[in-house]
Amino acid sequence: MAASLVSYSEKERKDLLLKIYGRMLKRFGQRNWWPGETQFEVCVGAVLTQNTAWKNVEKAIANLKQSGKLDLESILNIDIDELALLIRPAGYFRLKARRLKSLVEYLYKRGGRKLSKIRDVQTQQLRAELLAVWGIGPETADSILLYAFERPVFVVDAYTKRIFSRMGLISREADYEEVRTFFENNLPERLQLFNDYHAQIVATGHNYCSPKPRCEECPLEDLCPKLIWRQE
Ligand code: SF4
Repeated sequence: MAASLVSYSEKERKDLLLKIYGRMLKRFGQRNWWPGETQFEVCVGAVLTQNTAWKNVEKAIANLKQSGKLDLESILNIDIDELALLIRPAGYFRLKARRLKSLVEYLYKRGGRKLSKIRDVQTQQLRAELLAVWGIGPETADSILLYAFERPVFVVDAYTKRIFSRMGLISREADYEEVRTFFENNLPERLQLFNDYHAQIVATGHNYCSPKPRCEECPLEDLCPKLIWRQE
């Protein structure tokens, strides 16, 4: 059966989104995302984390660091098979090596050796260019925009769709752009809020709102109509 939406006024919806954030923040504390020491490391992590757990990304990044290859020029010049071997722990390593190469080629073409040169590019322009890079989808592009280039775009992932459709705020069938627009239209446009909100969603989804949810312990329990059984 199709998912239901709960009817809220605009004010109720905006208030609820902030209340939800407050609950998650109280439970998990500030998440201080993204885990990465440099802007470039965040870009690399955004590609490596596609379809894998973060602990695997950490191993791949550690390999790149140990071999002295975690910088733009090194990845630009490294042999693709060598790169694939280094990032092997992140899974899909041949595909991700090609994706990393294509991202780095774009970054180099756009800003040369320094990512700081990309600072002046308008967010929508930068987003369109990232989406045109081979292997970069909207979640990866928006993660790079938000966490590496500090642009206020909302990152959407599978946890976001699951939690907020169960809460009756978005349709289960909503596509990426619909969900991103929903958050961007209903939250104050604040970089730090967008940054931490997504991180809190990941913590809530990972710990509670799994396919078999643990609603009793979830920080959103009393706010959530739990539109689960009608959906799944
Ligand atoms: S109360 Fe249950 S369905 Fe609602 S967000 Fe939490 S775990 Fe998910």
